[in-house]
Amino acid sequence: RDYQSVGLIIGVTGIVGNSLAEILPLSDTPGGPWKVYGVARRPRPAWNADHPVEYIQCDISDPDDTLAKLSPLTDVTHIFWVTWANRPTESECCEVNGSMLRNVLNALIPNAANLQHICLQTGHKHYIGPFEAFGKIKPHEPPFTEDMPRLNAPNFYYTLEDMVVEASEKKAGLTWSVHRPAVVFGFSPFSMMNIIGTLCVYAAICKQENTPLKFPGTKAAWNCYSVASDADLIAEHQIWAAVDPYAKNEAFNCSNGDLFKWKHLWKVLAEQFGVEYVEFDESEKPMSLVERMKEKGPVWDEIVRKNGLHPTKLEEVATWWFGDVILGGECLLDSMNKSKELGFLGFRNTKNSLISVIDKMKAHKIVP
Ligand code: NDP
Repeated sequence: RDYQSVGLIIGVTGIVGNSLAEILPLSDTPGGPWKVYGVARRPRPAWNADHPVEYIQCDISDPDDTLAKLSPLTDVTHIFWVTWANRPTESECCEVNGSMLRNVLNALIPNAANLQHICLQTGHKHYIGPFEAFGKIKPHEPPFTEDMPRLNAPNFYYTLEDMVVEASEKKAGLTWSVHRPAVVFGFSPFSMMNIIGTLCVYAAICKQENTPLKFPGTKAAWNCYSVASDADLIAEHQIWAAVDPYAKNEAFNCSNGDLFKWKHLWKVLAEQFGVEYVEFDESEKPMSLVERMKEKGPVWDEIVRKNGLHPTKLEEVATWWFGDVILGGECLLDSMNKSKELGFLGFRNTKNSLISVIDKMKAHKIVP
């Protein structure tokens, strides 16, 4: 079969990687028909296996493994970068994420003669600084726009952007786009940061213990306007930039295009799990999810057993620290004007996005 485009998804089982794996091979996807390769370290999980993607188990932090497994992919036309590595300090993050990207580019650029475009996913931390700098450096004033200057602090997003721009300057015909989502609403039990997956597990534990669904965050997070980014929408945004000439060599925010409040979504979450909804209670001593959920491993094991769920451990399916970050303070808003002005009119209704992610989690038997 003749393919018009050949995509390589780096991080194919991640929160956006899994959406790209689902959407790219569809017959009506722009730029198609697409042949798709997908890379991750772990064996292919059952929930990813139906996507028509050539799955490649490879550790891109290992230069030899990367060269051996990715240099034979000479037909790749587009790279979708939807992965990352976490380290204790941001300068280590710059180092490790930079060398992962370098390994992939070293394997592809000399061998994939028709490589045309790299989509790089970063995020809002471009405007507020890395986790370690929260509260220490002054973030940009929201709403964030793509032309805001970089902050004066190390940030692996900047490292990756610079490398992608440099690669495109060196290779004729190679373009790039940067995609900066807010918190992502998507399906992947392998994601290092999955807010909805984490909250589904929290709700299932409240249900199992017959306790109301208390909001584990701050009053500011409960009440403020927030934005989120649906993982399928991010995939559509990346495919748009990969294909549309007006989107080349540009950075874009990438959020749903509406506003929500956690206090409203909280009711939806409670309904979806049949657990009692309660308002934020100021009189209660604040307690982080990390603290609340410390001893709940055996409770989760029992939920999995009782409901015949896909076998998982609590620490795999819930990223409590990330829940604490997202629900710990006021959400900072971004602007989608640049995408709209250049022709991307996609959007999501965030409440519907939440429900569709929960439906997927249930359909794949990750949560009851
Ligand atoms: P995820 O954590 O959801 O997915 C990471 C993917 O990469 C998985 O498929 C993982 O599979 C794979 N992977 C990780 N390390 C390696 C490796 N060494 N070799 C090969 N594959 C690897 O990623 P996200 O989509 O969350 O993150 C992408 C970017 O988006 C990051 O920069 C992040 O900061 C940003 N972002 C994320 C948000 C979110 O809410 N998740 C919000 C805003 C921005 P395996 O572990 O099996 O290798």
